[in-house]
Amino acid sequence: MTKSEEPRIYLSPPDIGEEERRYVGEAFETNWIAPLGPNVDGFEAEFSRLCEGAHCAALSSGTAALHLALRLAGVGPGDEVVVSTLTFVASAAPVVQLGARPVFVDSEERSWNLDPALVAQVLEEKAGAGRLPRAVVAVHLYGQCADLDPLVEICDRYGVALIEDAAEALGATYRGRPPGIFGQSGIFSFNGNKIITTSGGGMLVSRDAELIAHARKLATQARDRAPHYQHSELGYNYRMSNVLAGIGRGQLANLPAKVARRREIFETYRERLGQLPGVEWMPEAPWGEATRWLTCLTIDPEEAGVSREDVRVEMEARNIEARPVWKPMHLQPVFAEAECVGGGVSERLFERGLCLPSGSSLTTEEQERVIRCFQDVFSR
Ligand SMILES: *Cc1c(COP(=O)(O)O)cnc(C)c1O
Repeated sequence: MTKSEEPRIYLSPPDIGEEERRYVGEAFETNWIAPLGPNVDGFEAEFSRLCEGAHCAALSSGTAALHLALRLAGVGPGDEVVVSTLTFVASAAPVVQLGARPVFVDSEERSWNLDPALVAQVLEEKAGAGRLPRAVVAVHLYGQCADLDPLVEICDRYGVALIEDAAEALGATYRGRPPGIFGQSGIFSFNGNKIITTSGGGMLVSRDAELIAHARKLATQARDRAPHYQHSELGYNYRMSNVLAGIGRGQLANLPAKVARRREIFETYRERLGQLPGVEWMPEAPWGEATRWLTCLTIDPEEAGVSREDVRVEMEARNIEARPVWKPMHLQPVFAEAECVGGGVSERLFERGLCLPSGSSLTTEEQERVIRCFQDVFSR
């Protein structure tokens, strides 16, 4: 068998069990195929329990959830919004789509997340100039919470809304508590590659009942309470379907096992590859437990004698999907004009960072193939 004929190992594919079928089957049997219904209600209620009873709205995607979060924070034309620069584009795109400007802020080394000291500096300067940002979007990257205590304190001090992008962090903790409930609102994603999936979907979470009630209205075309179709504001078609919420309920029931498996995969990589020169692992900050959504590491090419790209290209040749760490937003052509504060930390993580296959369904044999490939690149 030539190398390329080996079956592909994906970065983070869906991991589906039997319970999902039961809930989806119920939707078919009861003809709850149309949007909303008992699975949506059940999924929201079960999700709320994970979020200390916070209010939840199930939506069509994490990006839709963030769009609503920003709009409900009052973000509009001419506003500025602070966003982590080291993230996926969906953390920033809705800012621009609302007519606002992102102000990108660099990461801190110890968590790879938004640096609270830089955020404090930005808000102080902007307050001095009389134009505070409307919101701060803090991303919990690769399933590790940003340092929320200082971020909450800074945002409260200036009266700026804190929005948590917890798309990758379902099941993580910050000082023993779940992410998503520290700021004004938080968002989660159930895209196919996330910790749990509904094939596509998202959740908006907030301790503010009125905010979530308004989000539900905006997500269903903003209909007023009237028997006829009447609208006093414009909304979107952003609700999750009752069929897909059934997948979510089955997935959610197995969340602890999925997170435990991802953490175990990370530990196996670290044990087996940790002695190689120039290899360092994404640190776990002392304030919580990360989901290790993806196993991330950096390779120092001087010390290692090989680069991140050497490893990634060899993996691709052996039909293994590995990816560079997110390319920072301030380096993206589409954001060439955007302001960025700092940037050196995220740039170095992008140059040297690699994400390895980490799905909770990854088998021991598959992980062995990834490890062997990694070792082969270092020993040639
Ligand atoms: C996946 C992801 C999103 C977007 O979620 P979708 O459900 O795919 O729209 C937003 N932010 C981050 C950090 C993500 O990883």
